[in-house]
Amino acid sequence: MYLVAVYLAQKLMVKYHMFLTQYSLSELMDLELPPIHEQKRLCFRPSRHFVHHTYELINYEVFGNELRKPKILVQSHRRKYWGMCSGHTYRTITGSFCTIDMMDKWFCMQWFVTTLAHEMVHQYQWDILGPERQDDGKDWLMSHGPSFHAFKTDLVEHDIPLKTAHSQRRWFKYQDLFKS
Ligand SMILES: [Zn+2]
Repeated sequence: MYLVAVYLAQKLMVKYHMFLTQYSLSELMDLELPPIHEQKRLCFRPSRHFVHHTYELINYEVFGNELRKPKILVQSHRRKYWGMCSGHTYRTITGSFCTIDMMDKWFCMQWFVTTLAHEMVHQYQWDILGPERQDDGKDWLMSHGPSFHAFKTDLVEHDIPLKTAHSQRRWFKYQDLFKS
């Protein structure tokens, strides 16, 4: 009985993720949030399909498809970080110099999309701006400096906030990533 329940829950989850892929970024960000008690149980578990779809959607809508999709790992990080973009000195098989690590469990889909967009800004800094900096005799850089914040308005147009960190306390108080 338990296995049947797990099987059905997984089928429903796949259906839900397929259903989500019909939306634009701002439509995704504006979808209704799950109840807070479900969010606190980290109810959003992105499927591989949804992770790659969201990457491609952000790449298309925000970065004009300039980014090469890196290897994206989805795993439990024991909550040390939600997402992480690592820059390498060599080009990986994907064509990107980066790998992106994402947590496997989230309060909601919107928190996941916002974090992925943040990591993709870092990827842009490394993959696109890095070689340009090198031509100017500078080191490659991944930071929360001006080239990071340059994407703020582009992301706001898609209802995605760009911040260095989000406060969980403020998130559960306001349920608004722009205020957390
Ligand atoms: Zn960052």
